[in-house]
Amino acid sequence: MTGNSSFKVGIYIRLSRDDGNIESDSIIGQRSLLNQYIKENNYNLVNEYVDDGFTGTNFERPSFRRMIKDIEFGKINMIITKDMSRLGRDYIGMGELIEKYFPNKNVRYIAINDGIDTFIDNTNNDIAPFKAIMNDMYAKDISKKVKTSLHSRMKEGLYVSGRCPFGYMKDPTNKNHLVINEKQAETVRLIFDLALKGNTYHYIAQELTKRKIKTPASYYNYVWNTNCLSQEYGVWVDTTIKSILTNQIYVGDTVQGKTKKINYKLKKTVKNKPNDFIIVENTHEAIIDRDTFNYVQTLLPKNVKRPEKKRFYLLDGLLYCGDCKHRITIRYQTKTDRSYTTCDYYRTYSKYHVCTTHTNNYEALEKVILDNIREVCKNYLDKNIIKDSIGNIKLEDNTLKIKKQIESLEIANNKLTETLDKNYMNMLKGIIDEDQYIRVSESLKQEIESNKSSIDNLKNENKESNKIDNKMIEKYINEFLSLENPNRELIINLLEKIYIYQDKRVDIIFTFKNVT
Ligand SMILES: [Zn+2]
Repeated sequence: MTGNSSFKVGIYIRLSRDDGNIESDSIIGQRSLLNQYIKENNYNLVNEYVDDGFTGTNFERPSFRRMIKDIEFGKINMIITKDMSRLGRDYIGMGELIEKYFPNKNVRYIAINDGIDTFIDNTNNDIAPFKAIMNDMYAKDISKKVKTSLHSRMKEGLYVSGRCPFGYMKDPTNKNHLVINEKQAETVRLIFDLALKGNTYHYIAQELTKRKIKTPASYYNYVWNTNCLSQEYGVWVDTTIKSILTNQIYVGDTVQGKTKKINYKLKKTVKNKPNDFIIVENTHEAIIDRDTFNYVQTLLPKNVKRPEKKRFYLLDGLLYCGDCKHRITIRYQTKTDRSYTTCDYYRTYSKYHVCTTHTNNYEALEKVILDNIREVCKNYLDKNIIKDSIGNIKLEDNTLKIKKQIESLEIANNKLTETLDKNYMNMLKGIIDEDQYIRVSESLKQEIESNKSSIDNLKNENKESNKIDNKMIEKYINEFLSLENPNRELIINLLEKIYIYQDKRVDIIFTFKNVT
């Protein structure tokens, strides 16, 4: 670490009626911002001083006096506030403090949102030009250190949205915390249960409507269609089911920051990329356990809405064209009383001569595929008895290796961020000019970004290798082999995808490692 950890930091928080009613100025808001700042810069927090209900127009405040005493005794040598007005609103007194007292005691003072840092400007105590530079910096969105209070509260996992997600309610003792709403949570569990069985969004929506289960909208009294018979319960739609099944809130994580402001001058917001969401794990009680949730996510692509079909096809949603990789659809032909497969891409764009028909008699195809799965399953059981223990060791080894790689990348990124900070300081001190600063910063930022994406990839890889649970697979395989007519639930647990080629070749991708 750099010199940051050598500072003994006191954070000073003040709120009074003459500060107006700004949410981010609340004690919690200030504390949250300051703690986040300290964490990001690796400062060593020694003490917190809070004057709640004291005006900034004088310095007769108990915690402020205690802070001065601690400076005198050398307990702290750095003070951070949200902005200068927190420390005081008395211009002359502030001048005394910042331009004389602090330098005299060798105390560093930072006012985050004003961009004041006396440490970088200690030879020239005139703050005004420094502030002007900083304001210019903000305009260029260079200083990422300055976050809004809301942002830092999200990072702490505080729930800041006004509306509660379905299944939860606000904790009566803490409006930033969620607790389970048991009645709604029951519905959430039912939805995941139905998804686990391989049902489509559409089917689940219909099922819930049939069972007269209340929709989120009907709880919130948004039911506007008064002609609707089921207005008391509401009608479930596919998108509601999808949004519930994909919402990470149900495993106990808080996901916020899905939108951002384009620019500090504009009110307009845009959607953030999932990578930029602020996710804090385990902030509230889970309704769905993490394994179930993750597992359902792997099933969802297989459970997409299939057009209204009277017929049920065991392999529906799993078939893909081996040649063009688009979906293969199954259609019933009344004339022949048979069902046939067709490449969707071919069917949609047949006049452009893309891909080929990929027509197969579905029943025959299903039989061939099931026979093939049976063979692979038997083979798996035979070989796996020996390979089981070896396989497990390898799996753990790999997980550990990935974890170490992630760690070292994260350390590298912390160092790069430090260098970035230093570079910024050097520019402010005039050691390097703005062009040099931008050039160096850009390359550092690029390196940081590339490390970040490597970390993401490694994390995904880790998930992938954990996905295969040998014991569960064995259970599914045994069950599959014992059934004459396997059900869809088993099929989607065992199979990832099936590729059909024009030359009648079939490639079956299993969810487990196919031992050959
Ligand atoms: Zn095709």
